[in-house]
Amino acid sequence: MPPLMTARRIDGSQLAAETKANLRQEIEQLRAEGVHPHLVALSVGHDESSEAYLRRQQRGAEGVGIDYSQVRLPQDVDEKGLLGEIDRLNRDPSVTGVILQRPLPASMDDRRVQCALSIDKDVEGLTPANLGLLYFGRHIVAPATALGVLQLLQRSGIELKGREVTVIGASDIVGKPLSILLTAAWATVTLCHIETRDLAAHTRRADILISAVGKPGLVTADMVRPGATVIDVGYARRPGPVGSGQTQVSGDVDFDAVSEIAGAITPVPGGVGPMTVAMLLANTVRCAVRMAKAN
Ligand code: NAD
Repeated sequence: MPPLMTARRIDGSQLAAETKANLRQEIEQLRAEGVHPHLVALSVGHDESSEAYLRRQQRGAEGVGIDYSQVRLPQDVDEKGLLGEIDRLNRDPSVTGVILQRPLPASMDDRRVQCALSIDKDVEGLTPANLGLLYFGRHIVAPATALGVLQLLQRSGIELKGREVTVIGASDIVGKPLSILLTAAWATVTLCHIETRDLAAHTRRADILISAVGKPGLVTADMVRPGATVIDVGYARRPGPVGSGQTQVSGDVDFDAVSEIAGAITPVPGGVGPMTVAMLLANTVRCAVRMAKAN
């Protein structure tokens, strides 16, 4: 039985605040040079879960000096109507970045819509062209959550070179791009997903374990190598105490039990979430600078 330990808590809110302070200074300088980053959030219909994310985006953008506006299309708009709006935003020289809010109506082809966005304004780094640049290590922007996780690790002084990293969750927006970023940093990456057999065998050998699934309780203490760094990307709402009528937010990791065995761990909330917003803002600045240089 290994000795119990208390994991160091990696404070994503603090690191995000530092990132935003640096961005604020950079944007002040850019504005003085005539570059005005302007982020537009494009959404279809109303989705309660994305409203909180929209509010965080707005607060974050305005807090660092990025102009922010929302374009809301009605729920019954068809794909052609949405593509027309994207075309208009692509051509509008006052718009330097567009974030396409999800979920889109089920009738729409998410990938086709994302592909319509100009590479220059793709602050989420999700167009095939931007993902291709990521693949070659030539990227200007990359998917914000993946970048956020990388920054959390690097800025917490966690060595990546030569380390075993297991990522649970292989989505296009988190797990896959993260595996590319980690490989570029010379980690040895294992990417797990719903069809992975014996998940615990992969997690137990990880120096760094990252879970991005959205299933509370998925990662239990017996799946974690003593002293490992554990990054919890998962974010799910579940009912709060019985009778309270409230909901609470939960990651994938059994935080209390894993804290007794891990070396370092991110909380939920206050871990990856704030860094995702900070990286979205950083991507917005990178896009605005790239556009200004091209003109
Ligand atoms: P997704 O549904 O697109 O992908 C989930 C992935 O998990 C898939 O690859 C699937 O194969 C895998 N998976 C599902 N069940 C599994 C299991 N039992 N064992 C192993 N793998 C399993 O989700 P996503 O969009 O990548 O988001 C994942 C989670 O991260 C969600 O909780 C989401 O809310 C959260 N998230 C958080 C942030 C943040 O900023 N904190 C940002 C993005 C996503």
